[in-house]
Amino acid sequence: MKLVDPIIAFQSELQQIRRDLHAHPELCYEEQRTSEVVAAKLTEWGIPVIRGLGLTGVVGIIKNGTSERAIGLRADMDALPMQEVNTFEHASRHPGKMHACGHDGHTTMLLGAAKHLAENRNFDGTVYLVFQPAEEGGAGAKRMIEDGLFEQCPMDAIYGMHNWPGIPAGHMSVCEGPMMASSNEFYVTVKGKGAHAAQPHKGIDPVMTAVQIAQSWQTIISRQKSPLDTAVLSLTQIHAGSATNVIPDEAKMVGTVRTFTAPVLDMIEKRMEEVAVHTAAAFGAQVEFKFRRNYPPLVNHAKETRFAVEVMKAVVGADKVDDDVEPTMGAEDFAYFLQAKPGCYIFIGNGEGDHRTGGHGLGPCVLHNGSYDFNDNLLPVGASFWVKLVEASLPSA
Ligand SMILES: [Zn+2]
Ligand SMILES: [Zn+2]
Repeated sequence: MKLVDPIIAFQSELQQIRRDLHAHPELCYEEQRTSEVVAAKLTEWGIPVIRGLGLTGVVGIIKNGTSERAIGLRADMDALPMQEVNTFEHASRHPGKMHACGHDGHTTMLLGAAKHLAENRNFDGTVYLVFQPAEEGGAGAKRMIEDGLFEQCPMDAIYGMHNWPGIPAGHMSVCEGPMMASSNEFYVTVKGKGAHAAQPHKGIDPVMTAVQIAQSWQTIISRQKSPLDTAVLSLTQIHAGSATNVIPDEAKMVGTVRTFTAPVLDMIEKRMEEVAVHTAAAFGAQVEFKFRRNYPPLVNHAKETRFAVEVMKAVVGADKVDDDVEPTMGAEDFAYFLQAKPGCYIFIGNGEGDHRTGGHGLGPCVLHNGSYDFNDNLLPVGASFWVKLVEASLPSA
């Protein structure tokens, strides 16, 4: 590994910041204290900040030299509404809130890079340090864009990084093209007609209708989508009825659809509605169909991905870089940034969990688990990657 030496020197300071953030998790758009900490650190290091983009978002700006070139580096700041089961010193002090996705680590890695870049300025151009709120379902990235991020901070490319449990600690992975899926929700109500369960012919059974719809939906995935396209349709809830001897009036179905491309998503949404409406009609029932699109697919741009891979190799060594990682059906709102600007999003391995200190929970060290903790050994690795990415993107003459 070729880490940036001065960053290694302030690793313990970074660890302190990370653990402080971990102990004080804040949810979507409530990142008051976190953005205060971020802005205070940036200011202490002489970095001007813009606040208020996406409510609690913070952008630090480091300019050097005369070049017009600019890049953005992004970290997310929010935590999850879940209970931490770890009991170590830096465990969450807010019941029901936890940094279980490692955004405390992402924020700290970017702070580490900020400090070094401000002190050394070995580049020519502008670096925008984008600390965004509300990644976990609140579309903070979209909100920052709507609030004028790219007008106030014009940049040629933007990069993001997420820790990834299961990938060995400090290894880095990425792939060109779609790396994470679009996430979408559906809410369907089948409206029949209630009756005595011993006299089904006097009603319209919404439960049987819902079951037929659910079965037919899976044929959209298996028979109507090209086998070469990726998509998943998971019906995750069915609610109907309240007694063994009553046919209810209606049945509700809820679930998620994930795809890597918009055309596949368009087709699935359209066919789901058609199948639901026509199947219900065949049984004499009616359907209320709602489909909500959340995050779009995250698609890495080819040129920026190849560029990031070279930087990754320079920092952690070619043997620790996977440039063709298997995409995941999870979703991530960095996708909005990549719809607006060239760039790429990478994974940094968080390891298997043996980095956790005494008092950690008995569960696995995976994202969104109460026993998870970010791996502090990554702090200088991620920060070094950011610094090298800036210096390679904006080389001094
Ligand atoms: Zn998450
Ligand atoms: Zn996350």
